[in-house]
Amino acid sequence: MPFFGGEKLHAIYSRAQSGGYAYMANNIAEENVLLGLLAGYTERRSDLVVQVSPGAAKYAGGGDKLTGLRILSYLIRTLADNYPIGVFLNLDHFTVNEMDIIRTAIDEHLVSSIMIDASKESFEENVRISHQVVEMAHGNNVLIEAELGKIKGVEDEVASADAYYTDPDEAAEFIKRTGADLLAISVGTQHGVSKGKDVVLRTDIAKKIRDHLAEKGLPIPLVLHGSSGLLPEQVREIIRYGICKLNKDTRYQYEYARTAHDFYTAYTAAIVPPPGVPDKRTGLFSGSDWTPDKKIFDPRVVGREVQARIKEVAIELIDQAGSAGHTITGG
Ligand SMILES: [Zn+2]
Repeated sequence: MPFFGGEKLHAIYSRAQSGGYAYMANNIAEENVLLGLLAGYTERRSDLVVQVSPGAAKYAGGGDKLTGLRILSYLIRTLADNYPIGVFLNLDHFTVNEMDIIRTAIDEHLVSSIMIDASKESFEENVRISHQVVEMAHGNNVLIEAELGKIKGVEDEVASADAYYTDPDEAAEFIKRTGADLLAISVGTQHGVSKGKDVVLRTDIAKKIRDHLAEKGLPIPLVLHGSSGLLPEQVREIIRYGICKLNKDTRYQYEYARTAHDFYTAYTAAIVPPPGVPDKRTGLFSGSDWTPDKKIFDPRVVGREVQARIKEVAIELIDQAGSAGHTITGG
């Protein structure tokens, strides 16, 4: 099925909102995680939301974010044609420093949605920047996600927990003035590695935000960042309060590293010469009787292991979010 833009993305979030389920939004920086996601989402017949952060774009572009975004977008849009599900691309945490890239992403139809993160700015400045991006995107089949409240990073100093939470009254004013299509809220989760058992998830705040927005005739989908460490029951609970998109990045990063670690640890003897054999890589050990095993060290071999594991994790997370069986064409 082809890649889809913002109008179709809006349709699937709205359906999720009324149906009481959500979509995981899955960060990628390279192809193995993407292929694993496509396999998992296809097996569960769920539409797939992929995300690219500025850091991932920079990585994929050899240091140049726009180059990396074009490469990853092309990869995603081209692969999407070969799978029976709807595929969408969101830009994750783009800021005022990336305005030129945001403009190009819209003009070249590289993405379905963009998150503009001006949450570190004052409320007025956040409104101004977010509204500016909404103006650029609307009419061009691109949705805009904005953020209100601050989502902690695990390394951030915690001054006062209350200062981070999204204010429900401000949320309604913010959406009214910016016209943003989705709102990322802060209700206690953290970016990076956090422990769900220690996270105080303020579902009461999420509920208030949802209710305030609905009262004002702005029933937009809400987004939760920093959800990798949440327990499955916490995910299911927060979805009940209007969260339609949950960002997942760190979990895939860990699964990638763990899979590669376990694989190479199991096959050390195929890669590292045994004691007594000199570690002479020039000529690939041609001066000794020992030979490394190409059937193991070919990077595609561990790549396929990573893809298989990401597929399993994707299925686990689809089942938490409840998006299985929901595709844009009902296929
Ligand atoms: Zn985030």
